[in-house]
Amino acid sequence: MTATSDVELPDTSTIRNPATGAVAGTVRWTDPADVPRIAAGLRQAQRQWEARGAKGRAKVLARYAVWLGDHRDEIESLLIKETGKSAVDAAQEVPLLIMIASYYVKTMEKALAPEKRPAPLPFLSIKKIEVHYRPRPVVGIIAPWNYPVANALMDAIGALAAGCAVLLKPSERTPLTAELLLRGWLDSGAPEVLALAQGAREVSEAVIDNADFIQFTGSSATGAKVMERAARRLTPVSLELGGKDPMIVLEDADIDLAAHAAVWGAFFNAGQTCVSVERVYVLESVYDKFVDAVVRDVEKLKMGAGEGFDFGSLIDETQVAVTARHVDDALAKGARALTGGKRPESEGNFYPPTVLVDVDHSMLCMTEETFGPTLPIMKVASVDEAIRLANDSPYGLSAAVFSKDIERANDVAVELDCGAVNINDVISNLMCTTAPMGGWKTSGLGARFGGADGLRKYCRQEVVVAPRTNVGAGGNYYNNSPKALKRMNTLMTKLALITPKRAAK
Ligand code: NAD
Repeated sequence: MTATSDVELPDTSTIRNPATGAVAGTVRWTDPADVPRIAAGLRQAQRQWEARGAKGRAKVLARYAVWLGDHRDEIESLLIKETGKSAVDAAQEVPLLIMIASYYVKTMEKALAPEKRPAPLPFLSIKKIEVHYRPRPVVGIIAPWNYPVANALMDAIGALAAGCAVLLKPSERTPLTAELLLRGWLDSGAPEVLALAQGAREVSEAVIDNADFIQFTGSSATGAKVMERAARRLTPVSLELGGKDPMIVLEDADIDLAAHAAVWGAFFNAGQTCVSVERVYVLESVYDKFVDAVVRDVEKLKMGAGEGFDFGSLIDETQVAVTARHVDDALAKGARALTGGKRPESEGNFYPPTVLVDVDHSMLCMTEETFGPTLPIMKVASVDEAIRLANDSPYGLSAAVFSKDIERANDVAVELDCGAVNINDVISNLMCTTAPMGGWKTSGLGARFGGADGLRKYCRQEVVVAPRTNVGAGGNYYNNSPKALKRMNTLMTKLALITPKRAAK
C-alpha cells in the first residue's frame, strides 16, 4: 500500500496554483465541531427530498446538469488555477458529470421503483413480496484531489438521485471548485440537500461519525482507516482506492495504437489518475518497436498549465517527491530514462513525462503506486510471464491488453486479477457507467456506477410482505394445533426437496 498523507489542516486558508504559486482563492475551513449540526440540517432536508419521488428529483438533477453545461468555462478555469492542469486535462471532468446525470435522469425512476419478488415455493405465492429502495439519509463523500470536480460529484449525483442528502468533504488540497459546484446546485433551484465540510483528517472523521453511508475515494492506506472508523457505528462504506494498473502488449498488437494509448494512459493528468497506466509488459518480438513509438509520442508533449499544453503540473511537492523517489530508485538499480528522469529547473511542481526501460519488479516504479508521470516498460518472454507479472501486485484496479485478436485478448483479460480490463484501449471502462467501476485486492471495496446498482448502493432495502388476499390469511401461529403445524412443515420439506432430489441425480 502507498503511504497515506495522514493529513492535517494546512496552516493557511489561501490555496495556491501549484504551477505558478499564484493565489487561486481562499477557503473557510469547517470546524469539526460544526459537522454534527451540518449533518442534522441535511437529515432534516432529506425527508422532503425523498418525498419528491424519483420523478421530482430527476427534474432537479436535470436542471443542475444544464447549469454544469452552462458554467463549464468558469469551472474549468478555476480547476486549472487550483490544480495546475493543462486545459486538455481540465476539459475531461464536467462532461463526465453531465453524462452521469443524464443517464440517471433517464433511468432513476425505474431503478428505484419497488421490485416484486417471486415466491420461493409455490405455496408461498399467497404472499406478495416487494423490495423497496429507501435512501440512507445522509451520505458522506470523502474525495481526493486529482479530479476535484469529477470526484466531488460523480458519486454525489447518484446519491442525490437515490434520495439521499450528501455531505461532501473535498480534499484539503483542492477545496475551491467544490464551493463553485455547491453554488451551482443552489443557484439551479435545488434544495439544501448538498453541503460541504471543508478540511482534512479531523473533518473527515467527523463526517464518518455523522453519516449513514461513506463513499470514500483515496489511497488504500487511508481507506483502511476510514473503514475502521466507520465500523464504530457499523456505517457501511464503499472504497475506491489506489492502483498500479498494468498494460500488456501482445506480439500481434497494433503497435502505434498501443503506444498512443500507453502515453495518454500514463501521462493524462500528469499521471495522477487512479486508473493510469503505471507499468507496461511487452512481448520481446515487438518491444523495440513499441518503445520507439512511445518515445516519439512523448517527445511531442508540451508541458505547462492551462491553454496550449498537453501535460500539466503535479499537485504539490509531495507528489513530485514520490515520483522523483521512484525514478531515482529505478535508475540506481540499472534502469534507463529515455525521456525526462529529472526535475526541471523551472518553478512550479512540474516533473517531465518519464519513460523508463530495463525495469523489473525489484524497483519501486513497478510495484508501488507512483501516481505521477512515469511509464516503465518491461520486456517479457511470454504471455504467461506478462500475466504473472501483471498479477504480482497488492493492487487490482484495472488493466489493459493490446492484440488484434480480440478473442485472444479476452482470454488474457479474464486471467487478470482486477476490477476491469480494457482491450485495445485504456481507461475507457470509466466512461461505461452502466458497468461497475471498482477494485479488487487493496484497490477497493464495492463499486461505483453500474447502472441501477449505482443508485441502489445508497439505499437500504425495505421488504414488505403482504397477503394477496385476506381470505385464509395467517401462518405458523400458536393457535394452530401441533398436528397441523407438523403437517405443514412436512409438506414444506417435501416441496423444498423436489429440486435438490432431481439435481442430485
Ligand atoms: P488520501 O487518501 O491522502 O486522501 C483522500 C481523502 O481522505 C482526502 O479528502 C483526505 O482529507 C482524507 N483523509 C486523509 N486522512 C484521513 C483519515 N485518517 N481519515 C479519514 N479521511 C482522511 O488520497 P489523495 O492523496 O487525496 O488521493 C490519491 C489517492 O486516491 C491515490 O492512491 C489514488 O489512486 C486514489 N484514487 C482512487 C480512485 C478510484 O476511483 N479508485 C480515484 C481517484 C483517486
